[in-house]
Amino acid sequence: MTLAPAAAIAEATPAPAQGAKSTAAKKKAAPVDCSQVKCLALTFDDGPGKYAGTLLDTLKKYDAKATFFLEGQYVKSRPQFVKRMVAEGHELGNHSYSHPDFTKSDAATIRNEIKKTQDAVKKAAGVEPKLLRPPYGLADIQVSDVAIEFGMPMILWTAGSADWSSKNVKAIQKQTLAVAKPNGIILMHDWVKQTVDGMPALIKTLKNKGYHLVTVSDVIKDQKLEPGDIFPVPEGWER
Ligand SMILES: [Zn+2]
Repeated sequence: MTLAPAAAIAEATPAPAQGAKSTAAKKKAAPVDCSQVKCLALTFDDGPGKYAGTLLDTLKKYDAKATFFLEGQYVKSRPQFVKRMVAEGHELGNHSYSHPDFTKSDAATIRNEIKKTQDAVKKAAGVEPKLLRPPYGLADIQVSDVAIEFGMPMILWTAGSADWSSKNVKAIQKQTLAVAKPNGIILMHDWVKQTVDGMPALIKTLKNKGYHLVTVSDVIKDQKLEPGDIFPVPEGWER
């Protein structure tokens, strides 16, 4: 939470009208092209948090997708939420097992933290995350090298909602709307009750502003990230 990475943001162009919806009973959403429409990725760290179920209900109600950077210890204690996240079309990322600062950890610890979380997610939901968000958004060359071993790029955020510090519904909504931009990646937390409480109104407002709420993989598609790459690239990052 200490970084304020600069992001490369693609220009958005107005959305063409969507084609007719499939009449199939099992609704399969048409893929959103974030080079053509305004996209935003809401990301929720450190979970699944206590309020993940309520958040998932809201996301479902408004047909919004999100990305959850999960902490392995909570995957283990709340596997049912992880299962739901996958079943309902959200993306999962790895956010370590117990949230140590990776830049102060040795390679074996980093590897173990990532692996234990991959295994826990696989056990809970049958899939393995393909994205890594290092705790606190802190990474260095060693972290990048371990990420390469797991075939994962590292995803930070273009802006934060400051939900963990304000813990205030109105402030979280105001901050998120102020920093939202096409192909932005917003940092939030599903353990912050006020984030989850304010989500229905926030989603409605974002949709009214023309945003499609999509996964991180949707908004980074054009970045062509390789394992070990970091996005957005923090100031001073060299590899
Ligand atoms: Zn975190």
